[in-house]
Amino acid sequence: MKKIVVIGEILVEIMADTPGDGFREPIPLTGPFPSGAPAIFAGQAARLGQPVAIVSAVGDDDFGRVNTDRLARDGVDISAIAVDPDRPTGTAFVRYRPDGGRDFVFNIRHAACGRIPMSDAVRKVLDAAEHLHVMGSSLSSPELIALNLETAAAVRGRGGTVSFDPNLRPEILDAPGLRDAMERVLALTDLYLPSGDELTLLTRAQHPEDAVRELLADGIRTVVHKQGAAGARHHDTGGSLWCPAFPVDEIDPTGAGDCFGATFAALWLRGAAPAEALALAAAAGAMAVTRRGPMEGVSDLASLHALAGPHRGAS
Ligand code: ADP
Repeated sequence: MKKIVVIGEILVEIMADTPGDGFREPIPLTGPFPSGAPAIFAGQAARLGQPVAIVSAVGDDDFGRVNTDRLARDGVDISAIAVDPDRPTGTAFVRYRPDGGRDFVFNIRHAACGRIPMSDAVRKVLDAAEHLHVMGSSLSSPELIALNLETAAAVRGRGGTVSFDPNLRPEILDAPGLRDAMERVLALTDLYLPSGDELTLLTRAQHPEDAVRELLADGIRTVVHKQGAAGARHHDTGGSLWCPAFPVDEIDPTGAGDCFGATFAALWLRGAAPAEALALAAAAGAMAVTRRGPMEGVSDLASLHALAGPHRGAS
């Protein structure tokens, strides 16, 4: 099976117990939950039996150990996670608003994962990558942009593939060079996994159908457009497939897109039929929202098959 590598942030999430606006008064909190979009992606891919490594850094603290222990238990190769003695592990405090929106307080840029050192262990993992998954949230500094772009070019140069989830967090939209970096990543992408409005973002198109046409004409092999609680649509030069979301009780939407993306990418790499990959990815997204905590909803293949049934939904 092809080895996936993902580069980027590892952090813990600490959640407010009650909905409300922000953190301007003392409120009960629950956590730490292991988190970070690349970590959730890696955890889900590993639970499906896919070889996967994450290149990142944590502090020499319990928040770091919560993550590395959890990723190792899920089967992720953690050999390229550096332990930085001078910086803490990243944190994200999150509180849901009554309208379903979210307020965050982040410490990522100045945390350990904002500075990933190049070491022999990192080089070894990058050299062994057969598939690179890039996330927009990981393009948060010139160093991380360069590392993702160089790795994407190297992986493709030796016959591997690249997937890309723009995964836009409003907090990083003003990061220097982000848009240019995303356009350069897109030019190296085989499998594109945008969500909602991100579909048209890096194209000249205003409408979803035009954006898909442009992306496929530009050489992207597969576009999967995630649409939250509505479902997801798969496009390639063979046509388009729709999979409605599986009905579940949503407890916490964080992590749905990463679990969906990891499942789709793993099955795509195994050569699964698009309808099967789409249905199992939608099942992974649905399972993810049923658990509180970003990584708590990762799921194995047996439970995804049980939820999806015989490729129910994709048509
Ligand atoms: P992202 O987190 O990247 O914005 P989405 O929120 O679109 O991604 O979620 C990815 C996929 O997970 C969706 O396309 C859908 O298949 C599934 N999903 C998301 N939210 C729900 C939900 N409330 N119920 C069932 N499935 C969901």
